[in-house]
Amino acid sequence: MNPYKVDGPAVIHFSGGRTSGYMLRQILDAHGGTLPADVHVSFQNTGKEREETLVFVEECSQRWAVPITWLEWDGFENGSRSRCLYRVVDFETASRKGEPFERMIKALGLPPNPVARTCTANLKVKTSKAWMVTHGYEEWDSVMGIRADEPRRVARLNAPGRDNSAGIPHLPLARAGVRKADVLEFWREQPFDLRLDPSGDLGNCDLCFLKSRAKIVSAIRREPARHVWWAAQEAGPKGATFRSDRPRYDDLAREAEFQSRQNTLPHVETEDDALADCMCGD
Ligand code: SF4
Repeated sequence: MNPYKVDGPAVIHFSGGRTSGYMLRQILDAHGGTLPADVHVSFQNTGKEREETLVFVEECSQRWAVPITWLEWDGFENGSRSRCLYRVVDFETASRKGEPFERMIKALGLPPNPVARTCTANLKVKTSKAWMVTHGYEEWDSVMGIRADEPRRVARLNAPGRDNSAGIPHLPLARAGVRKADVLEFWREQPFDLRLDPSGDLGNCDLCFLKSRAKIVSAIRREPARHVWWAAQEAGPKGATFRSDRPRYDDLAREAEFQSRQNTLPHVETEDDALADCMCGD
């Protein structure tokens, strides 16, 4: 069976990266260009994605004539931390100053960290789930752009006993044997592309704490103001940081400034330390 055929109800998670964009195109092709009525595409905006990512999401939607629902986390429901509210936005109205992310940090009282990824859990997984539940779905497939060259993620998502209340994982790229090189080759042949360097790891939230320290410092060197939002989140009353095994963002900014003054060469990117798409269920 064609791995890109999706039986609804389902939600296709488009992170705004090349991999999930490639997956969306293949799924559209498998369905003659139009998705079944109960197969939805959603993009969960944290407010910290770069403008290039937002433009890419919008461009895919326009050029491929596929509706993409833009969602933003909008607080916890009745004080419950298990259910959340969401807002539907679009390219014009989407938050661009980290507002949903910041509201969530305020509600929880501390920023996420690699062990407690409250950002993925709330801003992405629970937000998408809330939209599906509101639209009357009780069970659905969660279509994610995880490739064949990401075997650990595939194994994690398919692990027996995993909580699939936010959708049963469906991983067409892994099933089709698609690797990163295939995705990049596809985009080289398209009339448009994500306007971010494929090896720069600039997708997802701009200075995501899961990116390598070297990449974050290198990104701050290019655009010093980007660290300000992240440093502000670490200045909360509890003084909690995004990582306990790494300097605070303020210190990373000092490191970037020092490197710039020394004129040292920026970090050379390798594929191995790239953060893959921050996807639901990751
Ligand atoms: S990209 Fe990073 S900071 Fe943003 S939601 Fe995902 S894990 Fe959190």
